[in-house]
Amino acid sequence: MTEQNWRPGQTIVLQDVWDGKLWSARPMKVVEDSGGRIILWKPKGTRWKVPVTPPVRPKADNRGERVAQLMIHRDWLFEDREWDVSTLWIIEEGRGCAILASWFDDSKFWGWYVNLQEQYSRKATTLQTMDLALDILIDSDRSWRWKDEDELKALVTEGAIDQRKADQIRAEGLAAIADLENNAPPFSEPWDQWKPDPDWEAPVLPEDWERLE
Ligand SMILES: [Mg+2]
Repeated sequence: MTEQNWRPGQTIVLQDVWDGKLWSARPMKVVEDSGGRIILWKPKGTRWKVPVTPPVRPKADNRGERVAQLMIHRDWLFEDREWDVSTLWIIEEGRGCAILASWFDDSKFWGWYVNLQEQYSRKATTLQTMDLALDILIDSDRSWRWKDEDELKALVTEGAIDQRKADQIRAEGLAAIADLENNAPPFSEPWDQWKPDPDWEAPVLPEDWERLE
């Protein structure tokens, strides 16, 4: 653990960790790190690591079942992926979500996205969390809708998480929507106008991306 804040432009690794095992790894540029809030930049084209079903096992039909079976079998392999939309990740200490702001290729603001995930745990050069399937899409006019409710349901049905956990995840999403409707930060802030430092290149994973601090 370190008490030292990260500096803008520094690359850190956002790791999803499931039950003590690395699940995914994303290199991220630090935009801001202060007052219990960490803001990270993941531009389009960033290469990251995602978990995939090993070839020895049949692949489930839908994503929810596939994810649940990986969580239960703990046998995933890693594959490289390229991130397809530029996003800013705003993550507050003690909250079970990241609020994402996204832009179209022409740098017009696309809208917000609530990524339900575990409260972060901060290490020296990594931020550890775990994606929790459910998401919320918020358009630029602030209308919103749930995304991937079927995936969350599959995690419960397959036994990867219990119903109580699923209810907590949903409640975290509703808390983010309450912030939206009350125009609380970050929704009250001019993030839609934000631009990355033009000198920044897409962040790259360090060699030890698999290491859990
Ligand atoms: Mg998600």
